[in-house]
Amino acid sequence: MDCQEISRNFVNYYTSRSFRSIPPAPMLQKNLPMSYVYSCTPPEPDSDPENPNYMGNKFVRHQTCFRHFDTDAVGKDNQHLSLFEMSGAFHFGQSSREKTISRIWNWATQEMGIDPGRIWVSYFGGGKIPFARDFRTGECVTYLEVAEDRESFLAWRKVGFPQDRLIPLDAEHNFWVENRGKRTASLKCGPTSELFYDLGEDKACGKNCIPGCGCGRFIEFSNNRFITHRLNPRKGNLEKVKNALAETVIGIERISMITGNVPSIWDTPSCKPVMRKIHEFVTCKNEDEVFIRESESVIADHLKALCVLIADGAPAPGRSGRARIVRTLIRKILTRMMLLGIDAEKFFPVIISAVMPEAANQKSLKEKMTAYLENESEVFRNTLKKGSNELEKMISGNQGKSLSASQTFFLKKYRGMPVLLTKKCRVT
Ligand SMILES: [Zn+2]
Repeated sequence: MDCQEISRNFVNYYTSRSFRSIPPAPMLQKNLPMSYVYSCTPPEPDSDPENPNYMGNKFVRHQTCFRHFDTDAVGKDNQHLSLFEMSGAFHFGQSSREKTISRIWNWATQEMGIDPGRIWVSYFGGGKIPFARDFRTGECVTYLEVAEDRESFLAWRKVGFPQDRLIPLDAEHNFWVENRGKRTASLKCGPTSELFYDLGEDKACGKNCIPGCGCGRFIEFSNNRFITHRLNPRKGNLEKVKNALAETVIGIERISMITGNVPSIWDTPSCKPVMRKIHEFVTCKNEDEVFIRESESVIADHLKALCVLIADGAPAPGRSGRARIVRTLIRKILTRMMLLGIDAEKFFPVIISAVMPEAANQKSLKEKMTAYLENESEVFRNTLKKGSNELEKMISGNQGKSLSASQTFFLKKYRGMPVLLTKKCRVT
């Protein structure tokens, strides 16, 4: 199933259960000046009571998300993207976990046809949650003991989910705290419950491999979050919030991977044609297949991210904030292209249309995208020229010894030399 079919099905499923369909949030959020939308965020119905779109207490939306802090994970496993599609259903006020859980269970198994025998579920098994921090070190100094999320456990048992695949996990995995790790006056919080697809025991990293393990056996494809309480650091307790929220979000590409029964997110209908197109331009002969595939994944993901962000108003590459994120994406693409021997002049016009077909019809978007890429290529080339002079000096000064970690760090931090290029010593 492709991404559009999955998100359309999810939205229809929830609207037929009296959830109101609302438009996606813009990628550039005013309250996140350094970043972009990084999750399918719930609307704030109280903030605009006049707007008829936001009347009621149940909403469903589709959202494109970008996580700049996940860019290094792309290509390293079978399931991480930095730009991805999510859909979310949000129920404010009194909502039982039983209803939320039975809805997503029915959707996943009946609408998507995911084999119930392959699904595992995690829920909060009770334990310590951090709530007071030392403001100088940021380290947590006080913990609050919170009981097991029995309501979710019972709701899963009620839909017939077997206990041996219903896994209690700790607060790190299954207890959400607003602004975790930051000092704020009061923090909304609550337990979560995630759904995982099991690719098979033969993919396990060991005997103790369970959901939450990052080895690639389990694909997390949905999360349910129940924001019911607020941490009060002054009193050191949990208080009920007035407008509780029960939400369900799904990872669309991951569901496409599961329903298509393919081994990786790069083999899904939304990624495969682009990966194939990139491969046509690869000319290097002496790289191993795993590295080529990883680099192609980085190029595919980052180019799509760039296209979507630019279409939504991202600034030209620069030194700080969002501009810096744009610069980082472009430089990572260029680095991988160099290592794969891809000719930029022929590659860019073809690949922009492949990554985002709608860009081909929007002259201004295509021109802007090409201008950002070409201008940054020029700036990057100069950076690399200076960096490679420094690198050569270091190599001859080392008298046969390889570069030290601190030399590689210096080149990256102060000369803008990507570690991958320094390691391969293939700067051109
Ligand atoms: Zn594992």
